[in-house]
Amino acid sequence: MKELTAEQKELVALVREFVDREVLPVASKFDHADEFPTDLVEQMKEIGLFGITIPEEFGGLGLDLYTYALIVRELSRGWISLSGVINTHFMAAWMLMTYGTEEQKATYLPRMATGESRSAYSMTEPHAGSDVQAIRTRAVRDGDEYVITGQKMWATNGLRADLAMILTVTDPTAEPRHRGMTAFLIEKEPSVSEQPGITVPPQLKKLGYKGVESTEIVFDGFRVPATAVLGGEEMVGQGFKQFMAAVELGRVNVAARAVGLATCALEQAVKYAKERETFGKPIAKHQAIQMKIAKMATNLRAAELLMLEAAELKATGARADLEAGMAKLFATEVAMENASEAMRIHGGYGYSQEFMVERLYRDAPLLVLGEGTNEIQQIVIAARVLADN
Ligand SMILES: Cc1cc2nc3c(=O)[nH]c(=O)nc-3n(C[C@H](O)[C@H](O)[C@H](O)COP(=O)(O)OP(=O)(O)OC[C@H]3O[C@@H](n4cnc5c(N)ncnc54)[C@H](O)[C@@H]3O)c2cc1C
Repeated sequence: MKELTAEQKELVALVREFVDREVLPVASKFDHADEFPTDLVEQMKEIGLFGITIPEEFGGLGLDLYTYALIVRELSRGWISLSGVINTHFMAAWMLMTYGTEEQKATYLPRMATGESRSAYSMTEPHAGSDVQAIRTRAVRDGDEYVITGQKMWATNGLRADLAMILTVTDPTAEPRHRGMTAFLIEKEPSVSEQPGITVPPQLKKLGYKGVESTEIVFDGFRVPATAVLGGEEMVGQGFKQFMAAVELGRVNVAARAVGLATCALEQAVKYAKERETFGKPIAKHQAIQMKIAKMATNLRAAELLMLEAAELKATGARADLEAGMAKLFATEVAMENASEAMRIHGGYGYSQEFMVERLYRDAPLLVLGEGTNEIQQIVIAARVLADN
């Protein structure tokens, strides 16, 4: 795998230390209270985590996607909700860096790099998740403006973000439908549930992935200047492609989160197995437990290798749908399994809120659903395998 520079190694080590010292001791407390971790997020800003991949000329750290994946893994070893705070922001920043006009980059990237501005990334709607081409949110041209009406669903950071990258339909007659879709980078009031043209209803209640909010965003005649089209007027009709490219990136991200969570599950399982005694010896001495540990560690290693391969490939700019899909599929299933096995190794205590494995058990399922469900990953993988062979 890729050799890191001294600077990259130092940053990854710094995040690991931050997670050990500041995150692991309190993550479950924030999770149980479903509380946004303001202080932790401030520390993430200070470390520079909101601008990891934003070029130095715009005030970011200018690091590559591979380093980003390693950092996401470390954060998620502590708590996947922390990576959730930066992931939609990172995807919106990547879209801006890749497709934005020079003016859009100069306006937004500097404040995104510091975390002063935070972005959501929103394509899902109440009736359309996997089937993105079925979205209905309309953006209608009116002079120098577009008027947006429709409803977004499951927008991570949907309340606190002051920016949102959204996918809309600008030409409902287009065939195929995706040619009539356009991406907008909109500005909104952060932490405000009602503003002219936008309502953010109370956050959705979830099984896990707490602390970071998931919301609907309702647009009702929300006006944006035509300059808010991502990449400018010539990019009208290109939104679907832009969002799909970002999703590929998101899949590497989710694989990295899954590896982080699965690592934490293994660490907690090993620690407990050495401490807990039954029948006169630590449970780690029982072969049944050793077999679980061996499988968890082996699957974790395989997931890590797939994730690193996908991250390395995507960082070169090459097509990586197959590799990202495989990494996302495998790593997230491993996260589910490791979380479940870690809980079982804890016996009855695994079911109690005293031990962090119950949080991992509730957090892991998000990973098989988000950024394209694992059923959809298998469709993507099979399409490539069938085409290439
Ligand atoms: C906590 C959370 C945070 C999220 N954050 C964001 C966000 O920030 N931005 C955003 O845009 N979205 C976000 N999402 C939405 C997420 O990406 C979607 O929920 C996901 O893509 C699935 O869509 P759906 O829920 O509509 O399920 P559906 O598409 O309705 O799927 C239902 C079931 O059918 C299966 N299925 C669907 N089509 C097929 C097919 N062709 N073949 C086989 N099986 C199929 C699916 O795999 C699934 O099992 C988030 C979701 C959650 C839960």
